Amino acid sequence: MNAITKSLRDIDKSHHLHPFTDLSAYSKTGGKIISKAEHIYIYDSEGTKVLDGMSGLWCCNLGYTQPSIVEAVHTQLQELPYYNNFFNCSNQPSLEMAKALVEVTPDQFNHVFFTNSGSEANDTNIRIVHRYYDLKGQPEKKHIISRKNAYHGSTIAAGSLGGMDYMHKQYIGLDYVHHINEPNWFAEGGELDKDTFGLQVARELEAKIDEIGEDKVAAFIAEPVQGAGGVIIPPDTYWPEIQRICDERDILLIVDEVICGFGRTGEWFASETFGIKPDLMTFAKGVTNGFLPLGGVMVGDKVADVMLAGGGDFNHGLTYSGHPASCAAGLATIDILKNSNVIESSKSIVGPHLQNRLAALSDHPIVGEVRGRGMFAAVELVKDKTTRERLAPDSGAAVVCREAAIAGGLMVRATGDAMIMAPPLICTIEEIDTLVDTFAAALDTTADHYGIS
Ligand SMILES: *Cc1c(COP(=O)(O)O)cnc(C)c1O
Repeated sequence: MNAITKSLRDIDKSHHLHPFTDLSAYSKTGGKIISKAEHIYIYDSEGTKVLDGMSGLWCCNLGYTQPSIVEAVHTQLQELPYYNNFFNCSNQPSLEMAKALVEVTPDQFNHVFFTNSGSEANDTNIRIVHRYYDLKGQPEKKHIISRKNAYHGSTIAAGSLGGMDYMHKQYIGLDYVHHINEPNWFAEGGELDKDTFGLQVARELEAKIDEIGEDKVAAFIAEPVQGAGGVIIPPDTYWPEIQRICDERDILLIVDEVICGFGRTGEWFASETFGIKPDLMTFAKGVTNGFLPLGGVMVGDKVADVMLAGGGDFNHGLTYSGHPASCAAGLATIDILKNSNVIESSKSIVGPHLQNRLAALSDHPIVGEVRGRGMFAAVELVKDKTTRERLAPDSGAAVVCREAAIAGGLMVRATGDAMIMAPPLICTIEEIDTLVDTFAAALDTTADHYGIS
């Protein structure tokens, strides 16, 4: 370890509490200091270069070198570094960003509410649906149905909406949020075929609405594809059935596109990939290519019309709602997505190449399932392909595999026993080949580790 790394690590260990981290362990061992990034590569303070198979935290979809975003932010900071959108004021980047978002999102969206993050956007969803039903004279409609193993962020409200056991154990969830099962066929489908399982778990929504009472349920929230939960691609039957239930019942559909949005699944939004028609849509992460914090809620006409019809102030907002520099970054990002073939290529060229090359790993002795869509994939590690028995307790094998991948120069994530990948959409075919070859070598190392060949 070089002297600079050592000194940075010491400071970090001594003073910095890290998110989603074992604080005690980290204060002893410290971590990797990422000090530079270029194109699809990150470099640590030791100079080690790693291909970033996760686009940062699912956000740097265009990689790390995008001078037009940097330039737009720089120019904006010189012109108007900050002003708020409260008290009948606005600013040009935020109003232009609102228009740009309306243009790229599905037709029912003509309005946006800005936040700084996905978590705050999901908190905002709750505020909006409650306000909507209050204005409609149905104030008893407050309950929200979500799913186990969903990730919607980490504020109290977003964490409550989420279905992560390990988070619920550390705080009390909101009492008006309920969870049904997830469409996780590999882990929970048992003997059922995918389509039957998809229908079965979708119909839990109907049962839950009846259990709580339709007159009390305000909304259902879900990610089109669960990201942090393990890139769970729902069976084909799932979303049409969810849509049918939401259409037939008087509840709003909130789709959380924080990861899926801006091209990840091969369309601008996964609502398009899966034919979903949401009333509200959460975005964040890729909207600025991860360069500055920005999130928000796209509000569909059905909801916006009621909110715009009157009834006094909507008492919700954040100091940085529609921050000019973040919106400038968002505008530049949307510009790149519109004026390049990045999304089209993730649908028809690079995405299919990634999926085909990973699918070929299905024959590997420790691979139980390969699933994905666009530039988004998961590989399940097993000891026994038929029984789906795992290689080691507590998802130990996935940690071995991740460490092997990183040592080989590839950043991937381990979620449970699944290896997760969400590489930048701008990867070339050759870069995808390098990614998959490095990953395949990590699978071999993992198999060796457990004495399987
Ligand atoms: C990351 C994420 C969030 C939370 O976004 P933050 O910006 O971290 O608050 C919400 N929903 C989904 C689907 C996410 O992946």
